[in-house]
Amino acid sequence: MKLIQNSSEFNEYSYFVTPSDMIEFIYCRRFTYFMKVLGISQYEEKRYNVLKGREIHKIRESQNINYIRKKIPMVSKKINVNLISEKYKIRGIIDEILTLDNDTLAPLDYKFSNYNSKTYKTHKIQSTMYSLMIEDLYEKPVNYGYIIYCKDKNVLKEIKITEKLRNETLENINSYLEVLKGIYPEATKYELRCLDCCYKNICPR
Ligand code: SF4
Repeated sequence: MKLIQNSSEFNEYSYFVTPSDMIEFIYCRRFTYFMKVLGISQYEEKRYNVLKGREIHKIRESQNINYIRKKIPMVSKKINVNLISEKYKIRGIIDEILTLDNDTLAPLDYKFSNYNSKTYKTHKIQSTMYSLMIEDLYEKPVNYGYIIYCKDKNVLKEIKITEKLRNETLENINSYLEVLKGIYPEATKYELRCLDCCYKNICPR
């Protein structure tokens, strides 16, 4: 595994994008501008992280989750792994890194939501971000990511980390970094999203 924390180039921590940052960015790029460039915070973020930390402990102990995880061809796992990729400018904590029986690796992420008949693009992009970081740090291939949706029932979904998904994820990371440099982004094209947006009073859309 690469020891990137010791690298002399490791000096731009604030410019590393996290998978949670990306959810907001994909929803509306101006969130990122208001939050990260102008420093106007959206207070929900911390509350979510605290809740996630508490819930994950309970869920890991559940028999049901162990049963579901057995559907994945894995031989071992690491939990709560801090990941940082200098190469891709991304960082984050993955719930689990699985070693599969073909000696590839895979991220496993818990979502505290129900599975609504499809895996959202934002979740696929998050899984791809974790995959890119794992490949970069552990120097082993990642072909699949896994998500367990665990609000009411536990549902396991497998995501194939395709070349198309990788390219789309890298484009989003690049666009995110452009906004951090101060480039004012377009408003979301979905005007309904503005109705209950916390920035609607300051956003000239
Ligand atoms: S008001 Fe609309 S365009 Fe502006 S930040 Fe909110 S969602 Fe985006």
